[in-house]
Amino acid sequence: MMCWKNILFISVFLIPYFGFSNSPPPEEPTQKWCAEIRSAILQFKWKLEPCNGIQWQIGGTSIKGRPLVYAEFGDLNAENTTLIFSTVHGDEITPLYLGLQLVHWIKERQNELGKTRVIIAPLVNPDGFFSIPKTRMNARGVDINRNFATQDWPTRALQAWKNRFKSDPRRFPGNHARSEPETLFQEQLIKKVHPQKILSIHSPLNFLDYDGPSKLTLSQFPRDYTRECDRLRKSLNAISGGFFPGSLGNFAGRELGIPTLTLELPSANPREAERYWKQFSHGIRKMIQFSVPDYASRNLKPQSGG
Ligand SMILES: [Zn+2]
Repeated sequence: MMCWKNILFISVFLIPYFGFSNSPPPEEPTQKWCAEIRSAILQFKWKLEPCNGIQWQIGGTSIKGRPLVYAEFGDLNAENTTLIFSTVHGDEITPLYLGLQLVHWIKERQNELGKTRVIIAPLVNPDGFFSIPKTRMNARGVDINRNFATQDWPTRALQAWKNRFKSDPRRFPGNHARSEPETLFQEQLIKKVHPQKILSIHSPLNFLDYDGPSKLTLSQFPRDYTRECDRLRKSLNAISGGFFPGSLGNFAGRELGIPTLTLELPSANPREAERYWKQFSHGIRKMIQFSVPDYASRNLKPQSGG
């Protein structure tokens, strides 16, 4: 039989969970994220409202519990899908402006997308961005652009970090590949949306890098497909530099064969962000419209291990 003590226990400990308390309902994670972004961009004096009318989706959670968000536009069955990442390194401020502007620009033109689909994750590393001071790495001190499970990661990632980068903490690849939620978020988005091409926006090195099928990889990818990828590279004047163990370009571009462009804006100075949008948005739109055959994305296989 239930005695009064039990009833008291239930009243005190369970009632709040059933919503009878006077406390306000918990905030949606994306509302909190929007509030944080609004206050951050207020300091930069950007004329930009980050969230109005945007249906953010959550694709993961950062080490500090922030949502890893993205927005999707266009027909699910579109033949031409572009995946865009920005602010992979939390101390690179200008890429966030371009990522958010692009979300709004595309939202306003959704009806004109036709056979084009665009998925944008404008703040891949929120913990690095919101930390004081901002950090390139995530909250565990890992460079999430050195943490992808590329074939050379086990033998070369830590070795390259120690020798080539003199154990620079800003470039630490993690103790294992795929150890960081922000890296997994990008990998899972690639496997979910099957993009025909990927753009990752960084700063401040001022170049456009191409990783993907090229004449050097004709044994791996069909000649026709490689030719179309190269047409994309040429139309954007992208150069093919090197790549690092665990980087997105190495993982998606070189190994999966999805043309992956890395736009390095000329600086991380927030006062220059609007100018960079004007300067680079035409090229980004051109890339979105460019149709690459659906070859590599069809061959995406789920990755095992952790
Ligand atoms: Zn970067």
